[in-house]
Amino acid sequence: MLDRRGVLRAGAYASAAGLVTALTGHDNAGAAPHGPSAPTPQPAVNPNWQQLEKALQSGSKLYLPKAQNFPALARPWNLRYEDRKPMGIVSCASAQDVRTALLWAKENGMPLAPRAGGHNYAGYSTTTGLLISVRPMSQVTALDGNRLRIGGGATNGDVAKAGAGAGGTNLYVPGGRCVGVGIAGLTLGGGLGFNDRKWGLTCDNLVETEIVLADGSIVRANRDTEADLFWACRGGAGGNFGINTSFLFDAVDVSRRTATVFHFTFGPGSGEEIMKIVQEMLADDRGNDLDIRIEFENPGTGPHDVNVAVLGQYLGGDSAVRRRLDPLLRLRPAEQSIEQLGFWTAQEKLSMVSEHETVASKSLVPHTWLPSTTVKEIVDWTLKWKPYRRGNSGYVTLFAMGGKAGAPSADATAFPHRDGKFVIDVGTSWTDGTTHDEVQRLLAQTRGIHGRLSEVLKTNAAYVNFPDPDLTDWQTAYYGSNYGRLRKIKTRNDPHRIFRYGQGIEPLDHSEAGS
Ligand SMILES: Cc1cc2nc3c(=O)[nH]c(=O)nc-3n(C[C@H](O)[C@H](O)[C@H](O)COP(=O)(O)OP(=O)(O)OC[C@H]3O[C@@H](n4cnc5c(N)ncnc54)[C@H](O)[C@@H]3O)c2cc1C
Repeated sequence: MLDRRGVLRAGAYASAAGLVTALTGHDNAGAAPHGPSAPTPQPAVNPNWQQLEKALQSGSKLYLPKAQNFPALARPWNLRYEDRKPMGIVSCASAQDVRTALLWAKENGMPLAPRAGGHNYAGYSTTTGLLISVRPMSQVTALDGNRLRIGGGATNGDVAKAGAGAGGTNLYVPGGRCVGVGIAGLTLGGGLGFNDRKWGLTCDNLVETEIVLADGSIVRANRDTEADLFWACRGGAGGNFGINTSFLFDAVDVSRRTATVFHFTFGPGSGEEIMKIVQEMLADDRGNDLDIRIEFENPGTGPHDVNVAVLGQYLGGDSAVRRRLDPLLRLRPAEQSIEQLGFWTAQEKLSMVSEHETVASKSLVPHTWLPSTTVKEIVDWTLKWKPYRRGNSGYVTLFAMGGKAGAPSADATAFPHRDGKFVIDVGTSWTDGTTHDEVQRLLAQTRGIHGRLSEVLKTNAAYVNFPDPDLTDWQTAYYGSNYGRLRKIKTRNDPHRIFRYGQGIEPLDHSEAGS
């Protein structure tokens, strides 16, 4: 397993009657739609925690700030947002308890946020109200017909564990490489991984999802039932329409598969040549057996550590891939490894631990290959990067798209960027002790290369799972022309914005809803 650093990153008091109503779900939320300006809920002065605690079934638990493990449970992956602390955390083991928690929060006028793996870059699974964690629902069950039912709180790591090994299911759903990332967030926003060119994005393999809606109803969404909601759950991002408590996926039987994993690092001088070779390899990959990530990084530890890393997988034998990798090998990588492995061992090799970090990220999804002049600008940027403190990194990571991930039409699911050649993650991470001014300068450098890439690649398209709170035109950037349909679905399912965050989908306002 690789680690992230150095390799790719890759109201009022609840009335008794009101609470009963809330806890049984028969409320009248969902009447007239409120527009985006609907006020943020104000928490009750003295929320009735005991009532919530008593209403929970076995396996679920309420944590208040005095609980020993509260700080660890509250902490988001991105420590940039760790100061936004919840008043309480409810850790739910069933859809019923998610519903109980949701209705209780509504009755108590308390803001809420769902959380699965907690890996949202922009801290959107933090709240000053009630954090509803679905993490205990992490079961992975194999079903007939090569299908997997995956609990709403499972992570990439849980799914790999269930599939791998002698007693494993051997069923694989294309997912991400970071073991701690939640299947919920990953799927709802799209889902890139080292197998998406072969088998599609994570969301493309979704068959059905169970979801607790803002009015407390628990529904199943699939192609035939709640079809709009199902469409929105494949790219419309987490935290917008409800709390997904389980996912049913079509899976691939990988028992007979092998994979070759390769990893090279080069000095920055080879950057243009590397990108040229990689882009040719991807263009020639008719079987979609190849998937690659390239990272240009200045780790902030000195000029000699600036590097370009290539990490990839070829589904199949090592001799064919060696031929394909020959042009890269001729560039004499500083480090190299090529290993033919069983499928699960390969996924383990590609996987990444994800300790908490402090990061800011921006993304782009260009629909053209990168010209050498642009690659040169990226290389120059890494060379000029100023960390201000040792270990403050700047990076540009490219995730190959195309193949089956690019096959659906832009409106087939809510994920619109089907013609993307890459998803580009531009970011910086910084260490404790970095001052506010220094952070601003790191962010300015990141904005600089992002703006330049956006200009030369003629796109502002961005990946909603790499959210950037500074993006002003996020509606178009994340969702393209799908945003209008997403708003209608939001209006039908959550007109009062029970689910809300900085870049949450806005319901239609009165005039728009009437037209
Ligand atoms: C280290 C790291 C590696 C990554 N690698 C990849 C990668 O390889 N490929 C890729 O595509 N992305 C990757 N990502 C991005 C990742 O896909 C997103 O951050 C994703 O949203 C995280 O999901 P989560 O469940 O862990 O996050 P959370 O923070 O728990 O949730 C993300 C959003 O969904 C909401 N949400 C959470 N649970 C639910 C639920 N059950 N129902 C409805 N809404 C919910 C939250 O409120 C939040 O808005 C990576 C991120 C990190 C930090």
